[in-house]
Amino acid sequence: MSRVAHPAGPRHGDVLPADHPPAAPPDLNALLAGIWPRGARRSGGVLTIGGIDVRDLAAEFGTPLYVCDEDDVRSRCREYREAFAPEGRVFYAAKAFCSRAVLRWVSSEGLGVDVCTGGELEVALSAGVPPEQITMHGNNKTLEELSRAVAAGIGHIVVDSFEEIARLAYLTDPNPGGRPPGPPREAGTHPNVLVRVTTGVEAHTHEFMATAHDDQKFGFSLASGAADEAVRRVIDCPGLSFAGLHSHIGSQIFDTAGFEVAAHRVVGLAVRIRDEHGVEIAELDLGGGFGIAYTAEDDAPEVKELAQSLRDIVDDQCRAAGLPRPRLTVEPGRGIVGPSTVSLYTVGTIKDVDGIRTYVSVDGGMSDNIRTALYDASYECVLASRESAAAPMLSRVVGRHCESGDIVVRHAWLPSDLAPGDLLAVPATGAYCRSLASNYNHVTRPAVVAVSAGASGGQRAARPIVRRETLDDLLSLDVG
Ligand code: PLP
Repeated sequence: MSRVAHPAGPRHGDVLPADHPPAAPPDLNALLAGIWPRGARRSGGVLTIGGIDVRDLAAEFGTPLYVCDEDDVRSRCREYREAFAPEGRVFYAAKAFCSRAVLRWVSSEGLGVDVCTGGELEVALSAGVPPEQITMHGNNKTLEELSRAVAAGIGHIVVDSFEEIARLAYLTDPNPGGRPPGPPREAGTHPNVLVRVTTGVEAHTHEFMATAHDDQKFGFSLASGAADEAVRRVIDCPGLSFAGLHSHIGSQIFDTAGFEVAAHRVVGLAVRIRDEHGVEIAELDLGGGFGIAYTAEDDAPEVKELAQSLRDIVDDQCRAAGLPRPRLTVEPGRGIVGPSTVSLYTVGTIKDVDGIRTYVSVDGGMSDNIRTALYDASYECVLASRESAAAPMLSRVVGRHCESGDIVVRHAWLPSDLAPGDLLAVPATGAYCRSLASNYNHVTRPAVVAVSAGASGGQRAARPIVRRETLDDLLSLDVG
């Protein structure tokens, strides 16, 4: 019988999980290429990001802390933009991490922004992202959110249900007549509409990150004919301008096989649209989901190669179907911000559990990184405030919450001289960590600090872009 707890899920306690602790790395102090922000180094044994010592960051801003390398984000924006240039377009999926500063960076690097709620839309608009560079998603957009999007003149709205098409028809009705009062209507605006298609592709990723198999909530099913009907209704609607099709098959995907099947099916729909309506789709949005490296085991594709494969796939499918190639759009989220950010924690208690492993408790946890608990995600972790030559110690980095699933790094090899007060750094936490953060146990959400080696004419700089939440923030909501 194993003494090692098995991960949540349909596994028996006496079967060792396939991801049982990997062997200790040869050098516990090494920063593996591809996992850390491009501006991360060890200097005098201490981790620096953008040239700034993490001990200084912790002293000034406290821990837990998200440290975001602005230069890294910008460089990835440029890579995506150049890889899909000249005609392809790249929209940053703001759900990965949505803050005004980051949206300004991506916008100034030439990317559009994809939002999926009225809240994200307001952040984008208030950051000064040009409305025509915004695409709005969401599987349950309210009339108010749609009204705001249409009034702001955003570039594209991706419809996800028949109700939404009806709501947009209502908002853009050129002859509103004696309709009851409601949110402002925008007759004559003709928003560009993409129809989100569920292609039935099973992306090889975690169930909660796959979005195009039939048994889930997003989009219009191709198999049932709902997608064809949605296009029919959009085209029939005088206030809407049918712009094309959208497909997003999931997240953290490493190969393009799923995109190939999805593109084949979407192009099949495009052919039917041409035959039925005489309309050739102008845009094909293949969504995001491009994988990044979280650990040494992850082999993320080069963006340039990815772009070439997607272009080839769409070219081949369109040529075979006798269609001109529509403009290709992609929406990476994690690929833009994921590798840019490191979570810094202070070590609290250290508990050796009966020779099985050492539990290292840090001052954050599932409230600032839910991905380990939610998706069984894997992370690397290093001692950041100093180097150590001590022997490796099999550890589990856990948080301070009242859940045994409150795990940040399931398997970590840390030096055996680790002590309370040391700083730990977990890389690749730029996407879906701050944006999924919670106040569980009334823990306040950490600040996000941007560092840049090249800011202000070469001066190294660190500045908060999202301030730390305070207990007063939380208490002010408690009005009972
Ligand atoms: N586009 C859509 C429609 C999505 O749902 C998502 C993620 O859920 C993305 C883009 C971004 O995915 P990723 O951050 O994995 O690139």
